[in-house]
Amino acid sequence: MKCPTCSSELRKTLVKVYGAENQVISYQCIKCDYFEFEKDSSKKVIEELRESPLKLKQKIIKLSHNRLGMYFNKNIIESIGLKKGENLLISVPDKKHILIERN
Ligand SMILES: [Zn+2]
Repeated sequence: MKCPTCSSELRKTLVKVYGAENQVISYQCIKCDYFEFEKDSSKKVIEELRESPLKLKQKIIKLSHNRLGMYFNKNIIESIGLKKGENLLISVPDKKHILIERN
């Protein structure tokens, strides 16, 4: 497989997603920062995570400079011990899902 951005080789990598036993297969470019997720494997992980007990509705809010944001409410913060300044890794396996992973 070739990178659609720079035509370099794509390297197959297994990505572990917090809370899921299945891993997502991702293809990452060895040169630029392009990456994509293999559909079937990301579907499996999303199915798995869907059964997680903590699931709530959250509204997207408008921030300054045309950015959008989302709050983490108290339930989430307390159940996983989220702290200010933590780095989160966001991946978008498809148009309906946003996965947020802690480092
Ligand atoms: Zn590339």
